[in-house]
Amino acid sequence: MRAVVFADGGRVEVTDVAAPIIERPTDAIVRVTRAAICGTDLHFLHGKAPIEPGAVLGHEAVGVVEAIGAEVHGVRPGERVVVSFHIACGSCWFCRRGETSLCEEHAILGAGPFGGDLPGAQAERVRVPFAETNLLAIPDEVDDERALFVGDVLTTGVYGASLAAVMPDETAAVVGLGPVGYCTVQALFALGATTVFGVDIDPARRALAQAAGAIPVDAVRVNPQMVLARATQDRGADVVIEAVGSSTAYETSVDIVRRGGRVVVVGMYAGEVTELQLGVYWARALSVRFAGLCPTHAYWQQTMALLADGRLDPAPMVSHRLSLEEAAQGYELFDRRLATKVLLAP
Ligand SMILES: [Zn+2]
Ligand SMILES: [Zn+2]
Repeated sequence: MRAVVFADGGRVEVTDVAAPIIERPTDAIVRVTRAAICGTDLHFLHGKAPIEPGAVLGHEAVGVVEAIGAEVHGVRPGERVVVSFHIACGSCWFCRRGETSLCEEHAILGAGPFGGDLPGAQAERVRVPFAETNLLAIPDEVDDERALFVGDVLTTGVYGASLAAVMPDETAAVVGLGPVGYCTVQALFALGATTVFGVDIDPARRALAQAAGAIPVDAVRVNPQMVLARATQDRGADVVIEAVGSSTAYETSVDIVRRGGRVVVVGMYAGEVTELQLGVYWARALSVRFAGLCPTHAYWQQTMALLADGRLDPAPMVSHRLSLEEAAQGYELFDRRLATKVLLAP
């Protein structure tokens, strides 16, 4: 079958690889109808995370179940499904509590040795371990393209917005309006927020968030702290969701939240370091919640229902629809920030 693989020198190429087979009785094979390129995929190209040449990339996909192992009961061949970007066992102590991103057998499709060395989803077919847990059926009224986002960024937005728990009379701000920030803006409104500021340096991203109802803040031209203070009688935002994963974005988030406010950190961190003055946090009585990876499985049914009701719509994010064979071009456009979201059709 054809698949997008990591090649030497930080490139991707589309090549023939062995088609996946059922390896464990809890597996399913999904014939992929749409896959997407994610910001995390670029980490491998830039050497920020290890991966072997020849490994199939990708963790965002939607498709049709083609085969199931003997112990799979919740999904049937022929069913349209979305794949969770991270793989959980569904039965360990953490999974039983719904904290599936902390699963004892945590893995990520197409993410190299730290992801459990599973072949990725940018391919004609993908093997999904613990299929009952990691596949969600798609209702007829939701098309493949929209459903794809339930496996990753859209559900992450709903997770971030749920942790933020914004009341209708509160002022929220989202720092960073990439795919996760954009989905968070939509989810905040869907869950009852009425006033949401969106902070980003990129005009295209601000425009997209503005169309979703956010009040745009150009972090290059104005000081976000001043803007939020002016909007709240000098207090600052009640809740800030940090959706970048950089020290600068984190510091901006702490700067623009009010005394007694909440900061929810959805952006992904690895080795970043920041200096913080504990007395400032203490005196300002701040609540800071690090979200970690989204426990997709605990939030994706709610996300799918909001999508089916038309209260969420990830489609405006899609800037490019390419064939799987054009994946290298898609990665380049995405890497050069010429694409907001690239879909690949095998
Ligand atoms: Zn992703
Ligand atoms: Zn588990």
